[in-house]
Amino acid sequence: MAHLRFKALDLANNRTRTKVEVSEKISDFFGQDVFGLREMQSLLAPEVYKRVKRAIDGGTKVDAETADAVASAAKSWALTKGATHYTHWFQPLTGSTAEKHDSFFDASSGIEKFKGSALVQQEPDASSFPSGGIRSTFEARGYTAWDPSSPMFIYGVTLCIPTVFVSYNGEALDYKTPLLKAVEAVDKAATNVCQLFDKKVTRVKASLGCEQEYFVIDKALYAARPDLVMGGRTVFGHNPARGQQLDDHYFGSIPPRIYDFMKGFEVEALKLGIPVSTRHNEVAPSQFEVAPLFEDINIASDHNQLLMDVMSKVAERHRLKVLFHEKPFAGLNGTGKHNNWSLITNTGVNLFQPSSSARENLLFLIFFVNTIKAVYENADLLRASVASAGNDHRLGANEAPPAIMSVFIGSQLTAVLDELEKKGNVKVGKGENMYMKLGIDKIPPIIQDNTDRNRTSPFAFTGNKFEFRAVGGNDNSASSMTVLNAIVADQLTDFYEAVQKEIKKGTEKRMAIVAILRKYIKESKAIRFEGDGYSDEWVKEAEKRGLSNIQDTPRALDAYLTEKARKVFNRHAILTDRELEARNEIRWESYIMKIQIESRIMGDLALNHIVPTAIAYQNKLIQNANGLKGLNISNKGVINTIESITGYIETIQTEVYNMIEERKRLNKIEDLRDKAIGYCDDVKMKYFDKIRYAVDKLEMLIDDEDWPLVKYREMLFLR
Ligand code: ADP
Ligand code: MG
Repeated sequence: MAHLRFKALDLANNRTRTKVEVSEKISDFFGQDVFGLREMQSLLAPEVYKRVKRAIDGGTKVDAETADAVASAAKSWALTKGATHYTHWFQPLTGSTAEKHDSFFDASSGIEKFKGSALVQQEPDASSFPSGGIRSTFEARGYTAWDPSSPMFIYGVTLCIPTVFVSYNGEALDYKTPLLKAVEAVDKAATNVCQLFDKKVTRVKASLGCEQEYFVIDKALYAARPDLVMGGRTVFGHNPARGQQLDDHYFGSIPPRIYDFMKGFEVEALKLGIPVSTRHNEVAPSQFEVAPLFEDINIASDHNQLLMDVMSKVAERHRLKVLFHEKPFAGLNGTGKHNNWSLITNTGVNLFQPSSSARENLLFLIFFVNTIKAVYENADLLRASVASAGNDHRLGANEAPPAIMSVFIGSQLTAVLDELEKKGNVKVGKGENMYMKLGIDKIPPIIQDNTDRNRTSPFAFTGNKFEFRAVGGNDNSASSMTVLNAIVADQLTDFYEAVQKEIKKGTEKRMAIVAILRKYIKESKAIRFEGDGYSDEWVKEAEKRGLSNIQDTPRALDAYLTEKARKVFNRHAILTDRELEARNEIRWESYIMKIQIESRIMGDLALNHIVPTAIAYQNKLIQNANGLKGLNISNKGVINTIESITGYIETIQTEVYNMIEERKRLNKIEDLRDKAIGYCDDVKMKYFDKIRYAVDKLEMLIDDEDWPLVKYREMLFLR
């Protein structure tokens, strides 16, 4: 097996660059593969265009006639662009995107066809997508339905139609359906609140800008690591002598092969209308980040899924492999997404933008404080929204960010909230400036962020938006964004009702608002934390404050099924109990499968590759020891090594054997939650580290020439 490693290294070291030159201006090709509003407007009759536009803006249904017209225009447009097929593009709960391509060409008539009915709805043969029992019980069919609010696009030679994926009874089987509903809920709730001040606000849109981290390694080296190929992460591998301690990679110059790759995927992304704008190195060697400009949340979420796919495809051209797994390499930083989120009105106001106008600041404070309250009340749900086998290696595993949910707001805003809280029973007399008296007239519109930045917080206010940093690198953003928008919608609804009640009692509107906000500030204070989120002190402090610190996915998922969570999802018609239960079943099952696969990979690699290598090397040492003995020279050093190797071999064999027995036992458990907890506690926690420790020790003892697995230092310092 060692020869495979050296062959891979040879290939990797002798790569030539796949140069990418971009001669056109971005504006010349941005969105060229998107069937967007501009294209529709130029190809559709004005009446039809108006109807589609209304459907997009208002979330209304598209009638059959309109759908036919759109389908026909989309087909003509797609054919001129060289497309031959179309597909409903959807996001099943497996975590990636799915598509089934149909040809435009209709052999019976000899021409290309695309009817409105095929645009609006399809029935993919999707019986193998997870449904958590929703489909198998009585109705096996699943449907995909067009989501007009996310534009169609051409990918390769296929016209892709963003769709939702639902069961026969309309139950959500995907990520997009609940996101659309949560966004609608937050729109409704936020609009009501805004109308307390401004009747011109008729719509509030949630925005998302998704910073995406990733690792890149050479394709041949990737292929020579069965653990990466099958499980997305290295289950073994000794830390390189030099990791990320020098921090010299961060914002350093980008290696040329990676730079070509970045330019390559950016061009493809931009053609698809994904507004990628930032690129840089991340902290760990071979780790990078890409960030687009923020967009409407539904589109941004689709774009993030598409971007990951584009990156994987373009990486091929550069003989690279891009890794989105949350923790591909032990001892180095993991991979996350930073989901930057805000709410913006149809009048163009970002509700999280502090302002120099005192009046507007009251509106800012409403949204700011309600969001903090929402996170406080539903921290466990937010935690659950980012729970996955991969992300467990980040959250709660001595890594950024911690599994404890907290909100960072910076010293300036802390001072504002503290003052507002303390101003207790300040009476504002007639003609007095309420804002001044309460100290909310002086919120600085620009939050100084250099000194105030806290990189360790899972949920941070960064000037004019919140940044949710606990999202996993591989996650579908829709999962966490569904929860975030749902809980904020719920909180804003409560707030609005409380204000109405006070007003009815005769309290002046602004005074009523301030009183309620003050109450919220007090109640939710425990969730605010400005210190180092990675420190042990915080773990202790958080416990004192009564905040949860849920370490693993199987238990984190319980938060979806609490009375409180069900109420949030039911109240706003985002997910029913049945859907919530089904989705948890799917996630527990997916967790089990992931740990099971990793456990098998570990066992196979250890027994088939590592132990035989160790034995072969041991034999060489035994020969050497005997030779030395024959010459009457001390062989103590060699004997020591032989003994160490023997010890590690024994550990590996015993632990792998025990781990297999444990799996056999667990596989008999029917209840998926119990089984998932079993896999977590009795497979992962009990054996993974022990086996890895022994293997990594052997890596250091055995001759480099013989070691079968590509080493960390070889994978991570690509130039
Ligand atoms: P950071 O300093 O956190 O690395 P960047 O500027 O690199 O920030 O990325 C921030 C992300 O936040 C970008 O995707 C950006 O478009 C997005 N963003 C900026 N303003 C908003 C907003 N109001 N709502 C949502 N996302 C936003
Ligand atoms: Mg950021």
